[in-house]
Amino acid sequence: MLGWSINLFRIRGIQLTLHFSFLLLLAWSAVQGYDEAGLPGVFWSTALLIAFFTCVVLHELGHSFTARRFGVGVRRILLMPIGGMAEFDSIPRQPSREFLITVAGPAVNFAIAALLWVFVDTTRDTPTADLPASVYDFGWILLTWNIYMGLFNLVPVFPMDGGRILRAMLATRLTYLRATFWAATIAKVLAAIGMIAGLWAGQYMLVILFAFIFFAGEAEYRALLRREREDAYWRDVVAQFQALHQPAPGQREPPLLEP
Ligand SMILES: [Zn+2]
Repeated sequence: MLGWSINLFRIRGIQLTLHFSFLLLLAWSAVQGYDEAGLPGVFWSTALLIAFFTCVVLHELGHSFTARRFGVGVRRILLMPIGGMAEFDSIPRQPSREFLITVAGPAVNFAIAALLWVFVDTTRDTPTADLPASVYDFGWILLTWNIYMGLFNLVPVFPMDGGRILRAMLATRLTYLRATFWAATIAKVLAAIGMIAGLWAGQYMLVILFAFIFFAGEAEYRALLRREREDAYWRDVVAQFQALHQPAPGQREPPLLEP
């Protein structure tokens, strides 16, 4: 059931996929809305949820379109209740490119917030319809969410965009592996502080969130370390193979093709 997903539609060639659990979130939000204000409540909470996740998709498209400009293939965007994820063929190891691809996501959120600012400014005096709140409130909620989304993603920890931005900045001076090590270490220190603060404040959801961030940092570094070792292993195999097939000094290699 974990792998269940629904392909929705393509946006300029990029497949948008909905994880099954997203439907549960939609149902849960509708029930919450009904409890609060009956059918108008269902309409309100569903519209808000869809608007919110549209912003999540736009954020991911920001990454995706920037990645494509650098020739990186984007397989799909997967929407889950915890957020969206653009799946790239490979992340370029040039720090400047990774930086731009990553920064493009939060930049989209700030751009949406700026547009919504204009929207709420013009709908300030719209009368409240038969809904729990007005169009103006809708705009305001979405605006603040986008600012939160942009800022939250800039926190310098993996798997957030901020972690990648920090890595890209470190990678201008260090090797990619060392840059990842230090970005992951900084993330783990911040997460550990967050976990202690969460325990101290009795906020156990925060403790779980920071524990997740702690292990995500570790996983990011370990995955890269494994890839680097595999690459080194295959480089070694190729080098040994070439050494075996190199003619010994003084011995001429027989030509493969006689003219
Ligand atoms: Zn992002």
